[in-house]
Parts: sequence; structure tokens; C-alpha cells
Amino acid sequence: MLNLVLFGPPGAGKGTQAEFLVKSYDLVHLSTGDLLRSELAAETELGLEAKKFMEKGELVPDAVVIGMIKNKIASVTDAKGFIFDGFPRTVDQAEALDEVLNENNIPISGMLSLEVEKEELIKRLLNRGKDSGRADDQDESVIENRIKTYHEKTSPLINYYKGQNKHHGIQGMGTIEDIAGRLKAVVDSL
Ligand code: ADP
Repeated sequence: MLNLVLFGPPGAGKGTQAEFLVKSYDLVHLSTGDLLRSELAAETELGLEAKKFMEKGELVPDAVVIGMIKNKIASVTDAKGFIFDGFPRTVDQAEALDEVLNENNIPISGMLSLEVEKEELIKRLLNRGKDSGRADDQDESVIENRIKTYHEKTSPLINYYKGQNKHHGIQGMGTIEDIAGRLKAVVDSL
């Protein structure tokens, strides 16, 4: 199985590139952001709890997100592989993911880390906010908080995966096609 962690700060292009990877390698896409937004839209208890964190640009508590992703993994049978997008976002989440994947003998093949400058991230997120209507993309202070949270809680995962020899840094500036090409070159080498 090909199991990929697609990693990077908010606005790095994970969702866009995940679509390309899903098509090219026939993978199951698991985006915690998308899963949380559908819980929110359905006004479930989990969604209403998550909303309080998402609208401030804070991380949803690990227990909530880990439970949600475990359920999803368990519900999929017959996958060629998974692409994890926006997950893990903390070291505790990465450890929980390793645990469940190792139990099933399907370890992470590689972590693809999209590298984009902060100024460009803010520009992309504000632009997305205009079309998508996502409230967390329309408020610059929420965007700043998400980027700060990324540096504090999420970027330590770069060293976590470096420690497992699974980290691959990918230049995330340029056209969508250029970046997709760089990702493909790395995935084909795994
Ligand atoms: P982006 O990468 O642009 O921030 P996402 O759709 O991945 O967008 O996430 C939106 C919000 O959902 C995050 O700001 C956070 O509140 C919450 N979220 C998503 N994934 C996680 C996760 N793995 N752990 C905790 N919170 C998460």
C-alpha cells in the first residue's frame, strides 16, 4: 500500500495537490478539515464542538480528531492506499496514526511537505475565502493564528518524520502543474 502524509501550513495547497495524487495513484483521500466541515454542516455534536476551535484558528482537540480518523480508516476496505491531508497536525496525532497503521501492517510510505512562504500563504487563503465562503479564510487575524499554531504545534512533525527517514521537502511555490510534477517525482521514488 502507498500511504502518504500530505503536509504543510494552511494555504500550502494540500487540498489541490491531494486531488491530483488521488487520481494518479488511486488513493483514498482523508482530509480532517473536510471531515470536520461536514460534521459542522450536519450540525452533529462533534461538529458543534469543533466549530468553537475552527472559527478561532485553533486546533480541534486531539481526542476528537484521532477518534474521527480511526473510524474512517476502519470503514475503508480494499484501498490501494491513503492520503492523509491536514492530519496529523500534532505529535500525539502522528503517534496515534503510526499505532493504528502499524497494527494493520500498513505503515506511512512518506511525508510530502509543501514549503510555501508566509506572504504567499496569506494571499492564497484570502483569495480562497472570497470564493469558498469559508469563514476561517476571510479573517486575517484567524489566518495569522492558524499559521502561528502551525509553527507551534504542527511543524515539529517535520523532525518526527525526519527521524523515521520519511520526510520529503517539496517546493510549493509555482504553478499547480509544476508542484504536481515535483510531488510525482518523489512519490515514484518511494
Ligand atoms: P487549512 O489547512 O487551510 O487550515 P483545513 O481544512 O485542513 O484547512 O483545517 C481547517 C481547520 O480544521 C483547522 O484550522 C483546525 O481548526 C481544524 N483541523 C483540521 N484538521 C485538524 C487536525 N488534524 N487536528 C486538529 N484540528 C484540525
